[in-house]
Amino acid sequence: MTARVWLRVDPLFTADVKLLVSLFLPGAQFTSGAPATDAALAQDELAIVASIVCTAADVCATVTLREMVNGLSALRETTRKLSRGERIGQSEQRPLTSSATSETPLPSTSSVTVETLRSDDPHTDRKLRVLMKRALRFALHEALAATTGRRLTWGLLTGVRPVKLLHEWQRQAGQKSEEALRERLQREYLVSPERAALAAEIAVRERAAVPDLETLDREVSIYIGIPFCPTHCAYCTFPAYSMVDKARYAFTFLDALLQEIKMVGRVLREKRVGVTTVYVGGGTPSSLRPDEMRRLFDALRTEVGGAWREFCVEAGRADTITPDRVAAMAEYGVDRVSVNPQSYHHRTLRMMGRGHSPEIIDRRFALVREAGIRNINMDLILGLPGETGDDVAYSVERTLALDPDSVTLHTLSFKRSSEVTEKRESLVVPDDEAMLLMMRAADHAVRSAGLLPYYLYRQRDILGNLENVGYAKPGFEGIYNIAIIEEAQTIIALGGGAASKWVEPVTRRITRHDNPREPLAYVNAIERVLAVKERALIRICEQIGAAH
Ligand code: SF4
Repeated sequence: MTARVWLRVDPLFTADVKLLVSLFLPGAQFTSGAPATDAALAQDELAIVASIVCTAADVCATVTLREMVNGLSALRETTRKLSRGERIGQSEQRPLTSSATSETPLPSTSSVTVETLRSDDPHTDRKLRVLMKRALRFALHEALAATTGRRLTWGLLTGVRPVKLLHEWQRQAGQKSEEALRERLQREYLVSPERAALAAEIAVRERAAVPDLETLDREVSIYIGIPFCPTHCAYCTFPAYSMVDKARYAFTFLDALLQEIKMVGRVLREKRVGVTTVYVGGGTPSSLRPDEMRRLFDALRTEVGGAWREFCVEAGRADTITPDRVAAMAEYGVDRVSVNPQSYHHRTLRMMGRGHSPEIIDRRFALVREAGIRNINMDLILGLPGETGDDVAYSVERTLALDPDSVTLHTLSFKRSSEVTEKRESLVVPDDEAMLLMMRAADHAVRSAGLLPYYLYRQRDILGNLENVGYAKPGFEGIYNIAIIEEAQTIIALGGGAASKWVEPVTRRITRHDNPREPLAYVNAIERVLAVKERALIRICEQIGAAH
C-alpha cells in the first residue's frame, strides 16, 4: 500500500492531481518535491513528476512515475497530447523499465511551457487551462491505472455533477442520443461502460421529466431550511440542531424565516418571476409542531403565489411523522414527502444515532399514504458500517414492499467532521468491489419494481467512488432534485444554514450565498441576510426579465 506520494507539479494543477491520486491511492500522504535520489525511494512510496508543453497546435502532458518493485526502482512515463482544435489526441505509454541503479532518473523539475502568443496564459485563459488539465489527467490516470491495476468507475470525472456535462454537450453540440452520450463519456473521460450508460440514461430521462429544462432558468425554486432534528445522525453534516433548543426559540426562528419569505414573495411578484418548486428540507422540517408547520405553509401559500409544479417536505425521520403533521401537509397541498429509513436494521439505526425502530417507518409511511400525498420518496444508504450485501438487500426489500413512488439510493460518504469520519479507522465498511455489487443488486431490485433512475450526484470521499441515484416511477420524478443537481435555475434558499444559488440566465454563471447555520445566529443576522438577499434577488430577476 502506498503511504507517501512525492509530487512535482505546477501549483496550478496540484489540487487536481492530488484528487485523482487520492482516488487511486486512498489515504496517501503528499510531499512536495522528490526524494534526494531515486534510489532513496521507499518501498511504500511513489514519486510523480508532471510537465505540460503547450504549442499553437496542441497541449502535451507527460507524467513520470517512479516506484519500487521488488527492491528495484521502476519508471513509467505516460504522455497525452490533445489537439487545441480537437478534443481527443493520442496517448503514448513507455513500458515500465526497472533498474537497480536508477539509471533513468526522474526529471528534476516539473514544468509548464507555453510556446505561443503571450495572451496564451493558462492562469487567465480558462479554455487553455481546462485543456491542459484534461491532458494531465489523462496521462496521470493511465500511469496510475497501470501501476495500481485499478480503473476508476467515473474515470476522469471527479466532480459532483457528471450528468451536467452531458446536458452541456446536448446544448452545445446537439448530441441527443443516449448512445452518443455514453460513447463520448467513455472515450473522452474514461468512464466505465456501466457508469457511462447510467449517466446517459439519466440525462435523457431528466429531459423527458422536465421538457423545458433549457428554459427553466426563467423561473426560480425556493428552498426552506429547518435546521432542527430529534438527534444527530452519525454520517450527516447538515444543520441539525437539538429539538430541546428548538423549543426555546422556534418562534423567533420562524419570525425571521417568515420575513425572508415575505421579502422574496414581494420581489418575485414585482418582477413577475414564477416559482417552479418549493422544497422544505433541513434538518427535519417535521420536527416543527403542527401549528408551526401551518404557520410556515400558510406564509408560503400567501406570500409566494402561483401554481408550483411540486411542493416537497422532507419528513426524513419517521419518528417525527404524526397524524396532525401529515394533516397539515395535506391541507396545504404538499405533494411529495420523503420518509427515510436509511436502513431497516435496529443495530445500524442505533449505531448511526437515528433513535427510532424499523417498525415505526412502515407505520408512519402508511399515515402519509392514507393522507393522499401523491409522491412518497424513501432514502436508503448503502455501505453503512457493519452492513453486508444481504443487510442492504433486506432494507431494499422492506422499502419496496411499501410501494414508494420514488427511492433514492445513497452511497455512504465521509463528510468532513461527521461522526463516522472521526471514527473511520474503527469502522468496518465494505470495500470497493462489495460496494459495486451492493449497488448493482439494489439498482436491479428497484428497477424491477418499476422505478427508473432519473437523477444522480456524487460526493467527495464516497465509498467505492460510486454515486447517489434517485429512482422514480414514470411521472413521479422529483423536479426540484433535477433543477438543483443540474443547476438549471436559481434556488432561493431561506432559513438556517440554507445556501442560495443564483444561476444567471444565458451565461449560467453561478454565485452562492449561505445563511448562518446556527438558528440564533440566523435570527440575529436577519436584517443583513434580508438586505444581501434582496439585492441578489432583484439582480437575478432583472436578468431573467432581460433574457426572456
Ligand atoms: S435526520 Fe436527516 S438532517 Fe437530521 S441529522 Fe439525520 S440525516 Fe441529518
